[in-house]
Amino acid sequence: MTGKERLPVRGAQGDLLRLVATGQAESRAELSRLSGLAPSSVSLRVEELLDAALLVEEGAGTSRGGRRPRRLRVSPTAGLLAVADLGAHHARLALLDLSGVPLVVEERPCDIALGPEATLDWMAAAFDDLLRSHAPPGVPLRGVGTSVPGPVDPATGRVVSPSRMPGWNAFPVADHLGAHYDLPVLVENDANLMAVGEARAWPGCDNLMVLKAGSGIGCGLIVEGRLHRGRGAAGDISHVRVRADSSAMCSCGHPDCLEAYASGAALMGALADQGFAVHRPADVAALVADAVPEATALVRNAGRLIGEVLTVLVNFINPDAIVVGGSLSGAEPLISAVRAAVYERCLPLATRDLEIAVTRTGPDAALLGAGSLLLDAVLA
Ligand SMILES: [Zn+2]
Repeated sequence: MTGKERLPVRGAQGDLLRLVATGQAESRAELSRLSGLAPSSVSLRVEELLDAALLVEEGAGTSRGGRRPRRLRVSPTAGLLAVADLGAHHARLALLDLSGVPLVVEERPCDIALGPEATLDWMAAAFDDLLRSHAPPGVPLRGVGTSVPGPVDPATGRVVSPSRMPGWNAFPVADHLGAHYDLPVLVENDANLMAVGEARAWPGCDNLMVLKAGSGIGCGLIVEGRLHRGRGAAGDISHVRVRADSSAMCSCGHPDCLEAYASGAALMGALADQGFAVHRPADVAALVADAVPEATALVRNAGRLIGEVLTVLVNFINPDAIVVGGSLSGAEPLISAVRAAVYERCLPLATRDLEIAVTRTGPDAALLGAGSLLLDAVLA
């Protein structure tokens, strides 16, 4: 493992590096304007970052008349981040540069029901494998991060009472990964990471609700441009009660939760009962794309139930956009039914400029979100 070095940056240097890494600034003048630091302070710190080979200066930046400024970029050799988006039966794994650009993304089968030790040891071996085959020589690993499909206590990095992760309750995920890597480790709920990654594709939208419709149902909340974690379970809409007839038991042990009717797992169960061969939520979306009436009706009903829960939240939070991602997001009737419920039931002022759309970032949203938050942890 190459990654024991510590970044020689701190405080304001990290802020400047982050502004360049996220594409917000490419010149000293822009850094000065965005950071509020005096031009002489910016110049000094940029020289230190150049000396540390974390920034490089190249070509000519955008000219504003007069001398053409050179363009600051995060050095491609500054370091790598290893990130994973962990699902129930598969994981997406990636190596990112410090700007968040993927060098490689792979999806591999895994089984979180094997428990946290086996799953996290598998993940570390998969990261090592990717580093061996894809990391450029001499570029150090700077941080490791993963999503988990359950609530995470942000103070401890422990999973708390996840409903579909047997054996994971209270397991110290961050500590266990940290034992493999003496580096900053990020552990965060999957819908939260999806929201952070997706937010980069919605400039000008500071308040976003990002729905993850996969095996489960999650929602990540961006408020004033930042992830709202609350106590760690913010955005969890899966256990809102949507019926009162106790007709379906939820994985949490209560009857009639949204998840018991509208999650990918619930839809797969209902379709299997009708004789369809469905093994993952994407199979449900594929049946809808093939215009199979039973699948379309179930997905439309799921969208209506999700939309009715969202009406309360839209009135309460007034987001700029609702973005739907996850493996069911390709099912158009789901999005249409969410739109119909929200536009019909919400206050006019809340829906006048509200956009309800499918993900712009696609299946890598959570990986990109992990990269963003992990860069903060690396530079902290
Ligand atoms: Zn429940």
